[in-house]
Amino acid sequence: MNTLLDKIRSDFPILQQESFGKPLAYFDNAATTQKPAMVIDAIDQYYREANSNVHRGVHRMSQMATRAYEGARTKVASFLNASSSAEIIFTRGTTEAINLVASSFGEAFIHEGDEVIVSALEHHSNIVPWQQLCFKKKAVLRVIPVFDNGELDIDALKSLFNSKTRILAVNHISNALGTINPVREIIRMAHENGVPVLLDGAQGLSHGPVDVQEMGCDFYAFSAHKMYGPMGIGGLYGKKEWLDKMPPYQYGGEMISKVTFENTTFNELPYKFEAGTPNVADAIGLGVAIDYLQGIGWDFVRQQEADLLAYGTEKISAIPGVRIIGTAAQKASIISFVMDKIHFYDAGSIIDQMGVAVRTGNHCTQPLMDRLGILGTIRASFSFYNTREEIDRLVESVVKVKELFD
Ligand code: PLP
Repeated sequence: MNTLLDKIRSDFPILQQESFGKPLAYFDNAATTQKPAMVIDAIDQYYREANSNVHRGVHRMSQMATRAYEGARTKVASFLNASSSAEIIFTRGTTEAINLVASSFGEAFIHEGDEVIVSALEHHSNIVPWQQLCFKKKAVLRVIPVFDNGELDIDALKSLFNSKTRILAVNHISNALGTINPVREIIRMAHENGVPVLLDGAQGLSHGPVDVQEMGCDFYAFSAHKMYGPMGIGGLYGKKEWLDKMPPYQYGGEMISKVTFENTTFNELPYKFEAGTPNVADAIGLGVAIDYLQGIGWDFVRQQEADLLAYGTEKISAIPGVRIIGTAAQKASIISFVMDKIHFYDAGSIIDQMGVAVRTGNHCTQPLMDRLGILGTIRASFSFYNTREEIDRLVESVVKVKELFD
């Protein structure tokens, strides 16, 4: 190990533990990433020193909490290069951000006979809200097909647009296969057809820089816990021109401007979409996770993850009876694979007992698994804090599974 990597690993208290008497090798980063001590400490410090409700208090601690909460919003806006922090709405995460758009945009702009496009690569979070909206509005859900290698069929997308298409929702990076989708091309095609685009960025923010203005997306949904921040917080970037036209998603305190029994006027952006007491501590934690990532720098993250992906692909594909699912030309550091005649749950349990944490199952992408003709995969998703030595241990444990079953 090099010293920088040692130093980075020591920032993550959870990585120091053992699992079944062996050093933990954590390869479930696409499900959730681990948290550096500075994120944990920031949350702890907030509750010890500044816990207070935001926006409505004149007292000192309330003002501290408000400054920290709004400071986190400003950090997110600049991390995504949004044109203003009014375009950043805090949510519980990606799922809530997508539900917000499906519900509010859907309420205003989707009517009977209209069409919504998603892709065959989506997580359930970017299928079910649109599907249920389509049921409610008697609209039609269209699906961009996927090739066997995990790449979207972009030519087929061309023929899905028509005058009834109202929105296209697609993931930036596939959690199940690691495919990095050609989102700029998709956005350009959609905009040529007058269709706004929501990117599910749950996997998008941890692997490299995201510039929403340069990409041109209309909405970008994300979760802090997948980018080294806490669970229970995330957000939605939305272009102001859309957010201004969309009705509130939930009603209550904070999101109002004036309430009488006869009527209510709503607050300005972004508060119009943030009803109730927000998750201040975790928003602060998200801001600190951004500081942490920026401290490490994207060059290191990308170089390390590209090395682990190349090394892991070579080693795993060399094991007889193992097949990698998802071989797109552009991939993030996620390797999904199946083993001949061995169920992924059996394999995952044995691998776990060797101190290696992988994900098994359908990864909340049942339609994709159906399309690929499999029930699920074993998925190893790498972070910049993982090492080649840990991948060697994964390979050893997969070989051990084969030996046990042979
Ligand atoms: N979309 C993708 C691509 C994901 O990987 C996930 C989580 O795995 C989600 C959406 C849902 O994220 P969350 O559960 O944080 O809302």
